[in-house]
Amino acid sequence: MANVDEIEIRKFEELAARWWDPNSEFKPLHEINPLRMNYISQQINLADKSVLDIGCGGGILAEAMAHHGAEVTAIDLADASLSVARLHQLESKLNINYRKTSAEHLAESEPESYDVITCLEMLEHVPDPSSVVKACNQLVKPGGLIFFSTINRNPKAYLLAIIGAEYLLNLIPKGTHDYGKFIRPSELAKWCRENSLKLKGQIGIGYNPLTKRYFLEDNVDVNYIAFYQRRAD
Ligand code: SAH
Repeated sequence: MANVDEIEIRKFEELAARWWDPNSEFKPLHEINPLRMNYISQQINLADKSVLDIGCGGGILAEAMAHHGAEVTAIDLADASLSVARLHQLESKLNINYRKTSAEHLAESEPESYDVITCLEMLEHVPDPSSVVKACNQLVKPGGLIFFSTINRNPKAYLLAIIGAEYLLNLIPKGTHDYGKFIRPSELAKWCRENSLKLKGQIGIGYNPLTKRYFLEDNVDVNYIAFYQRRAD
């Protein structure tokens, strides 16, 4: 059985036309994009690296990485989002290989093919995130890096990511996130350890509701990025 929640895919398809509207439901992703892009490029020079972006949506991160010189393949299962992504890259004059496939499926045909994998804000939308982690380990080259980002699961994350972002501040649509699917850093670490992936770094993404600004911080209580390295073999 495929590791996909069709209801989640439909939710993203319905919003797809607005992926590149910086004032839409995707505003938070546009605002955190430079922060996470900076973080990634501080860890590795992406120029000429083969990068796989899993759950790429409209291509916000994929395009940023292509601007840094990466050869990007970007996958998603939402047709409408992929169409928007393909159209937008014509305007941006980038050459990203957008494909409709899952990480698990791609892992069968393209093992050990990518220098870097990014899987941001995606794991909390699938039925079995550990299966995506396993596929990432298969897809990345020995010694390669995998970046994950998701939302922590604790009362503070519930308050900020659901009550705050969805109900009080209307930053994202109600029902975007399911608290039960949030992932503790320790859970992600366990799935990564099962694949012999080594934790290389972790950072939180904070939000100040007064200045309406996002920032990187050491605190990983809510939104966080963690990156891992595959053994060099
Ligand atoms: N990674 C992007 C988009 C995050 S939104 C960013 O951070 O800017 C989550 C995305 O994951 C959506 O585009 C959704 O269609 C996709 N998605 C959900 N389940 C998926 C699956 N099983 N395989 C691939 N993509 C999936």
